[in-house]
Amino acid sequence: MKLHNQIFLAMALGALAGWLTSEGSQVFGVSLLAVYDTVGRLFINGLQMIVVPLITSAIISSLTGLGNGRDLGRLGGKTIAYYMSTTFVAIIIGLVISNLLTPGIIDGEPAGDRLGLAADTHEVLARVEGRGAGDFAGIILQLLPSNLLQAAVQGQLLGLIVFSLLFGYFLRNVEGSPGQALRDAIEGLYQTMVRITLFIIRFAPIGVFALIAATVTRTGFDAIEPLAWFFACVLLALAVHAFIVLPLAICVLGRRSPTWHLRAMTPAMLTAFSTASSAATLPLTMECVEKRSRVSKRIATFVLPLGSTVNMDGTALYECAAVLFIAQAYGLDLSLGMQALVVITALLTSIGVASIPAASLVAITLILGMVGLPAEAIGLILVTDRVLDMCRTAVNIWSDSVGAVLIARSEGEEAVLSQPPDHTV
Ligand code: ASP
Repeated sequence: MKLHNQIFLAMALGALAGWLTSEGSQVFGVSLLAVYDTVGRLFINGLQMIVVPLITSAIISSLTGLGNGRDLGRLGGKTIAYYMSTTFVAIIIGLVISNLLTPGIIDGEPAGDRLGLAADTHEVLARVEGRGAGDFAGIILQLLPSNLLQAAVQGQLLGLIVFSLLFGYFLRNVEGSPGQALRDAIEGLYQTMVRITLFIIRFAPIGVFALIAATVTRTGFDAIEPLAWFFACVLLALAVHAFIVLPLAICVLGRRSPTWHLRAMTPAMLTAFSTASSAATLPLTMECVEKRSRVSKRIATFVLPLGSTVNMDGTALYECAAVLFIAQAYGLDLSLGMQALVVITALLTSIGVASIPAASLVAITLILGMVGLPAEAIGLILVTDRVLDMCRTAVNIWSDSVGAVLIARSEGEEAVLSQPPDHTV
């Protein structure tokens, strides 16, 4: 069976298992939920274990192979332009849908009182506030961490990426055998990481089964009900961006089939959905884009690691939709100026948000403070956060992969999606 079918099946079985399991279910005295959690965690750990060496070796080897500085400037310019413009479009879609469908207003009344705050609001807030990068200075400071290893340990990939870009850029100029030896060693490291990735991917169906089973056991399907309208609005906005805007870009700008690309990316998108972490999914994203959509290693290794932390369309859209929903639910009418502020802040914070589960909550509390709402208001949306996190993460990595395709096409790569994806992954 092909990998994406295996993962689909695992998701369905995981949802069924989660539905049949309650938080107290035990088999031979062992908690089933604990088993799901451990297996799921093992899979995520396996993927996260390779992220730091993969990102660094991929970016450095991509840069050393890029040729002259002008190539790098052109590629960097296109990449940033793509990231900024698609994120901006995503936020506007979130803004328009939230204003048109007003999910925070029920029967003409602000829905705040009916919904109530989630029970664990204070606990979540305490976690979120301790995570740092809660302001703009924090985000900018992440770009140049004083201690590289500490940034890597704390999963602040932005600093690591900037360092790798600098390293790769200057390694190109080191002449003679020291330079060549180091370039070869890093290329060897990258190829080893790719092989480890392929090995871990084989366990994706088991990991995905456990992650979905744990989420369904914990959240259940009923939990979504009170927030159904908000939930539906976010899903609609994400769907418009993922299934209309981005495919149109592949058709019009890339002149390739978005369906083929979607098929190529299915394993990565399902993994993003199950893990709710773009960083953990990165190894798979790179594999699918290179092997199945046939984007060159040169472009994939440059665009994707950067995209996994900088380009978060789904996250930015969600931040905007969540803040507007909370404002509506609190009966606060946000002026046009305020909404523009929300858009800009969502754009900037989505760059600094870590690519891990629930990371946008940090940014949302920041924006809530800016528009004059209490941080506790985030308690309104906690119940649905995990499931929507799964969806927005899939959109995040879908947008990264579309970026890789468009940039490769603009660089004249003919092989990209020139035939239906094969099934090497
Ligand atoms: N979980 C998202 C990601 O890793 C970030 C977020 O929106 O919370 O892409």
